[in-house]
Amino acid sequence: MDSGPAAIAIVGGGASGALVAAHLLRRPSSPFHIVLVERAGRVGEGIAYSTSSKCHLLNVPARSMSAFEDDPGHFVRWLASRGLPAAADDFVPRTFYGRYLRETLWPRVADGTPSPPLGGVFAGVVDLSSGPQGPELVLDNGHTIAAKVVVLSTGMLMRQFPASLSGATTHPRCITDPWAHGALAGIPPSATVTLLGSGLTAIDVLLALQESGHRGPVHAISRHGLLPRAHRTAPQGREVLEPPCRDLEGSEVRSLLHQARQMMKGAGAGGADWRDLVDALRPEVPRLWSGLSGDEQLRFRRHLERLWNVYRHRMAPPVAQAVDELQNSGIFFVHAGEVDAVEDVGAALHLQVKLRARARPYAWKTDWLVNCTGPGPHIFERGQPLMDALLARGLVRPGPIGMGVGTDERGRVLDAQGQPSPWLWAVGPLRQGQLLESTAVPEIRVQARDIALDINRSLVDLGTGSSDAPAGACRGLEAQPPTAQLLAS
Ligand SMILES: Cc1cc2nc3c(=O)[nH]c(=O)nc-3n(C[C@H](O)[C@H](O)[C@H](O)COP(=O)(O)OP(=O)(O)OC[C@H]3O[C@@H](n4cnc5c(N)ncnc54)[C@H](O)[C@@H]3O)c2cc1C
Repeated sequence: MDSGPAAIAIVGGGASGALVAAHLLRRPSSPFHIVLVERAGRVGEGIAYSTSSKCHLLNVPARSMSAFEDDPGHFVRWLASRGLPAAADDFVPRTFYGRYLRETLWPRVADGTPSPPLGGVFAGVVDLSSGPQGPELVLDNGHTIAAKVVVLSTGMLMRQFPASLSGATTHPRCITDPWAHGALAGIPPSATVTLLGSGLTAIDVLLALQESGHRGPVHAISRHGLLPRAHRTAPQGREVLEPPCRDLEGSEVRSLLHQARQMMKGAGAGGADWRDLVDALRPEVPRLWSGLSGDEQLRFRRHLERLWNVYRHRMAPPVAQAVDELQNSGIFFVHAGEVDAVEDVGAALHLQVKLRARARPYAWKTDWLVNCTGPGPHIFERGQPLMDALLARGLVRPGPIGMGVGTDERGRVLDAQGQPSPWLWAVGPLRQGQLLESTAVPEIRVQARDIALDINRSLVDLGTGSSDAPAGACRGLEAQPPTAQLLAS
C-alpha cells in the first residue's frame, strides 16, 4: 500500500469499522490513507453478518440499512445491482450485508480499476501506544502499524454462562458460543435442546436448527419468558404519527416510564402503532440515558432493559411467522424462569430450573444446552489483550456503569483522567455506556459520518508528514487491498 500523508488505523473490521471507512472514503478531498485491521479473515461481517444462513434475516428493513443515512436507497440499489431485487421495506438475509459493506469500500477493485486508499490487514491488535511519533499498533503477529489517528471498533463480546452454570461449560453438549463456526453442527435432529435466553440470538439458533432439519423439541428459558415482538407487516403508504418524544424529561426511570406510557396511550388513541412510539423514542434515548444517574441507569438495566429490548429489537415478519408456526406445532416452547444450577453432567445435562409457573425448582433434563444470552457490553471483564493494554496505559476508562469504553459526545475516547483523546475514537456498541442505543446500523452510520468528519478536521489540524516514520507505515508487512476471494460472498 502507498503510504500517504497521514494514516487512519481502524481496529476491528465489523460493520462499525467498515462504516467508518466508508464515510472516510466518501469525502472526496480526503488524501488520507486508511488501514483496517481485522483479526477474523473478513471485513464487514463481525458477529452479526457472518452467518451464511438465508433464514437469518436483517431485523431492520432494507431502506434503513444503507451505509449512508442521506442516501436510504444505497443498499436497495446495491441489492438490485447484484440480482437480488428487494423493496425498501423488505427484510433481506443478513448474509448479503457483509458483502454490501465490502463492495461499498472496494467497488473499483471489484471492477478491476484502481483501488481506494484503503488497505486491510488481517491480524489482531494486542497493544496500542502513543509515542512522540504518534500512535503505534502492535499486532499479534509481531508487526506494528504507525498511524496518526486510531478508531476502535472492536464490538461487544458474547456474554458468558452465568457463574452458577460454570460446571457445564466444558460439557461437550453445552455450546457456549452459538456463533462459532459449526457450533450447532453436532446436535442430532431428534435431540432436546434448551436455549438459555429468548431474544434474537435464541431465535437465530432456533431457525438455524430448523434449517438443518432439526425435529426434536427446543425450549427457550429466560427470566421474562418473552420473545421479541414482530415488525409491522405493511407500513407502506401509511402516515406514521410522530409521538412527541422530545417532551420526555426526567432523571428517574420511573417517571420516564410513566410519561412514555401516557404518550403511548395518547398515540394509540390517535391511531398510532406502539412501534411508531418505540421508533420515535430511539433518537431520544442517548439524551434521556445521559440524564440518569448511575443508580438510575443500573435500575433501568435491572428492571426495564429486557422489556425495552423485546419491543425495540423486533423480529422480521417472516421470522415471527416461522416462530409462531413452530410454537403452534409443539416444537418450540418458551418458559419464564431461571436455570439455577447444573446437577449432573453425565450422558444428558440435568439442570435445576426455577420456572415462574411452578412453585419449586425441579430437575430439567436436556440433551444440549446453548448459550443464547447474546453479546454484552462489559468488555473489560474478559481479559482481552488490547483492552487490558489500553487500560494499563491509562488510554481508556470504562464507560458509564462499566458499559463499553468512556467517550465524549464526539466519540473521542476518554483517558483515565476523563480527558478526550486527540487521536483515539470509538464507534458502535463500544459506546453503549454513553449512548445506550449504539448497536444498530441506523445509529452506527451516523456516528461513522460524524467521526469521519472529526478525523478529517483533526488530521488537517495535525498537519501531515511531520513524523520520521512514514505515517501509515506497516512495519514488516503490507496492508493489502482485498483479494477477489475476500470480496466474494
Ligand atoms: C446476531 C445479530 C444480528 C443483528 N442484526 C442487525 C440488523 O438486522 N440490523 C441492524 O441494524 N443491526 C443488527 N445487529 C446489530 C449491529 O449491526 C451490530 O451490533 C454491529 O454489526 C456491530 O458491529 P461492530 O463492528 O461494532 O462489532 P462486531 O460485529 O462485533 O465486529 C467487531 C470486529 O472487530 C474485530 N476485532 C475485535 N477485537 C479486535 C482486535 N483486537 N484486533 C483486530 N480485530 C478485532 C472482530 O473480529 C470483529 O470482526 C445485529 C447484531 C447481532 C449480534
